[in-house]
Amino acid sequence: MFESLSAKFQDAFASLRSKGRLKPGDIDEIASEIRSALLDSDVALSVVDFFIDQLKSRTDEVLGDLNKSTNPANAVFEIVNSLLIEILGGSARRIRLAKKPPTVILLTGLQGAGKTSLVGKLANYLKAQGNTPLLVASDLQRPNAVTQLQVVGESIGVPVFAPEPGNGVGDPVKVAKAGVKFAEDKLHNIVIVDTAGRLGVDAQLMEQAKQIRDAVSPDEVLYVVDAMVGQDAVRTAQAFFEGVGFDAIVLTKLDGDARGGAALSITQVTGKPIMFAATGENVTDFDLFHPDRMASRILGLGDIQTLAEQAKGAFDSDTAAKLEDKFASGEDFTLDDFLAQLEAMKKMGSMTKLLGMIPGANSGAMKKQLEQFDEGELVKTQSIVQSMTPLERNDPKVLNGSRRLRIANGSGRQVSDVNSLVDRFTQAQKVMKQMRSGKGAMPPGMQMPPGMQMPPGMQMPPGMPQQGAAKVVNKKKSRSGNPAKRALES
Ligand code: GDP
Repeated sequence: MFESLSAKFQDAFASLRSKGRLKPGDIDEIASEIRSALLDSDVALSVVDFFIDQLKSRTDEVLGDLNKSTNPANAVFEIVNSLLIEILGGSARRIRLAKKPPTVILLTGLQGAGKTSLVGKLANYLKAQGNTPLLVASDLQRPNAVTQLQVVGESIGVPVFAPEPGNGVGDPVKVAKAGVKFAEDKLHNIVIVDTAGRLGVDAQLMEQAKQIRDAVSPDEVLYVVDAMVGQDAVRTAQAFFEGVGFDAIVLTKLDGDARGGAALSITQVTGKPIMFAATGENVTDFDLFHPDRMASRILGLGDIQTLAEQAKGAFDSDTAAKLEDKFASGEDFTLDDFLAQLEAMKKMGSMTKLLGMIPGANSGAMKKQLEQFDEGELVKTQSIVQSMTPLERNDPKVLNGSRRLRIANGSGRQVSDVNSLVDRFTQAQKVMKQMRSGKGAMPPGMQMPPGMQMPPGMQMPPGMPQQGAAKVVNKKKSRSGNPAKRALES
């Protein structure tokens, strides 16, 4: 996500950090680097100008104080972080539920933006929170839109109100109105109305959207934007906003090679927040949009909060509690526990996507390793562990040559694969022991941001950068005689 932009921000800060005390010229230099990074990423000129003006004036105000701090570059970093959060909308904005149900959500957007897929993602998300959504098929224009919605509804177990066949037949305004009435009668607390998109924002599209809006008085009008389109998407959003209006934006296709232009410009240009983001074709590739987490990713700090939330969702509470108890009581982490982790990881979806949330994931070496990461590795590893007996899983020390050969044959792998898994597992076990006793360290390049922790029971999956896992810091590091430097070291 926004890899090129993120790499440019990280380069700019790497050079600022090497400077120590900052002069006004240093600020001009980083401002100019950030300016060209934003322009290269297709961010609207007005937003870039705002960003750079603010950066300069905020750093000017505090330059004297900046140089008194132990790390002036970090203070500039904080200013840039808060500006990014600001242009991304400040804080997450949730759906406003109607006082008297049902809450009516109208989905609008151009054809191909991912609107119909989004109806499913949104309904699935709301259903998981205990709501009882109903989908209404008011896109009667696009060929097969009604059928597509019915398939989506069926796949997530959400009913679809579709009295008309579509493909140009039926009145979308009447369907929308009848859909809301149906939801009231059947006590659905949320109605999501799918409307027709067009290839561009034209008068006909706006007129129909206005008529549906006036007929159903939605609590939320969401405008769906394909993030890969960049500034063009921002211009059409602006035109739609002026013609019809909307309450919030949904960004789709953030998993693609979107440069960041749409995400970073749209809130400033339209004055409306980004409420949700879709990051793939699966129904679960969807979440609330958090400006602070996005800023953190752009600055190379990853998104540990989302990772932790997803891990929490994937581990059933019993497994998580058992692993936490084991960790706290000093019991050994076994291959059975490891198997439970692998199961949970599989539930969390694409490993490359998850690892992309780790701090530094966009940096050179880690990025290369992520690109080469084999998603099938998880299944292969699982098959090795499953071919072991309970005794072997509990105590890998019993794994002699003949046992290893049997496991390799049983899992269709090589003995060297079994050896490598056992070695890495033994190392991980040692790291966990040392972390528990306070002597362990995170692998190099994988620092957790302040206040953050790896989710309980989580460790790096097999096949990922392992080089650091074995390098446990046992040696006492020499400490500086300078109190300020020593404070920084600790
Ligand atoms: P609509 O015309 O706006 O209703 O668009 P669709 O929902 O039919 O989506 C158009 C295409 O984009 C389909 O192939 C979807 O699978 C794909 N798509 C939708 N959202 C995403 C997303 O977040 N990421 C990716 N990679 N593809 C998406």
